[in-house]
Formats: sequence, C-alpha cells, structure tokens
Amino acid sequence: MNIFSSCFVTGKHKRKSSQYSAKSAVLTSPPVGRVTEKDDPNLDIWKDQFSTGDQTDTSRIAFYNSGLAACVKCGEKNIGRFEEKAGIRANGETFGTEVFLCQTKGCKWETSFKFDDGHSGAYHFETAEWVKGIAHFPVSFMMMWARKHNLPDQVCHQIFENRIDGNTMLRLIKEDKLAATLDTDRKTVKKILNALKKENSTILL
Ligand SMILES: [Zn+2]
Repeated sequence: MNIFSSCFVTGKHKRKSSQYSAKSAVLTSPPVGRVTEKDDPNLDIWKDQFSTGDQTDTSRIAFYNSGLAACVKCGEKNIGRFEEKAGIRANGETFGTEVFLCQTKGCKWETSFKFDDGHSGAYHFETAEWVKGIAHFPVSFMMMWARKHNLPDQVCHQIFENRIDGNTMLRLIKEDKLAATLDTDRKTVKKILNALKKENSTILL
C-alpha cells in the first residue's frame, strides 16, 4: 500500500457522506407509489425531482450533445453519474433526477437532468426540444470532435489557435468562411461537413 492509498483508508480524505442517497436496494423490488420510511429498508426519504449544479442551457446542451461524456468546464471525459429516483408508478415506470459530477480533481463541475421512463419524447425529457449537433460545444469539445472523426491534425490545431467553438464553426460554415479561417482546402472542408452529417457525430465517448 502506498502513502496515497493509505490516506484514503485512514479516512483523512474519505469521501464525506453524500448528500444523495442510494436507492438501488429499493428498486430491486419497487413498491407502488411513493416510498415511505416504513417501506424503505434504508430509511431514505424519497425527494421530489430536483435540479442541481450548472443549469445553464449553454453548458447542458453541449454536455448532452456530447453523449453526456465530457465536462464542459475542464474538458475531461471524466464524468460520474447516478440516479435519484423520486417515485415509481403502478406500471413500474420510474422518474427522478440523474446527477452528473466531474471526477477531475478540483473541477467540481456538476449538473443534472430530470428523467421519466413514461415520457414519450425523451428519457431526459428536458432535452426533448433541444437543438442537436455541435451547438454550444466549447473549444475543448471541438478538438475532441475533430480527433474522433480523424480530421487532419491541422484542423485540430486551427480549432485551438482560432478558439473555434461549436457555434463559431456553424457560423463559419453558414458564411462559407471555413476554408479561409482554418487555412485549409475544400477537400478538408468537405471532410468536416461529412463528419457533421454522420449519425452520432457529436458523441465524444
Ligand atoms: Zn471537469
């Protein structure tokens, strides 16, 4: 055991008791309707659906469109997630809040999405009307995106140099200024346009 792991064992850096409670035991045999202390072996009080952390559209649209994959603050693909059930309907559908926490040391970025099995549009129903694609992608996401689609290194470099985020990229395409701004040829621009059209183009996992 090295000095770092022993720190964790001694509890000096032990994770302080979470403000969120585990519901997995309850969900294996869900009672109908709202769970009470009497029903719940963990004595957890089920909360109403809630929202937490960064709730700005700009951050959440980018995060959602990345496949809930990368932190919009630090740019790392280092996201932990868990669900907080708020209730179960008679037909077995659950609803609640899914919380996402960046695990990168010192980052602490956090957001949440409400979910509902019974929603016809989308499990994370708040996202049902959201614009899809690279809209609101920060520069770090655009660089990951370019690498994912095997675009030339020069494209990735120019994205970084010119601070081209998702909205800027979309505007440059619309104004037909992409080749000039990226200092590249039409063939590469075509590769970029094709990458944008691909199914699951924006998923950064
Ligand atoms: Zn982060």
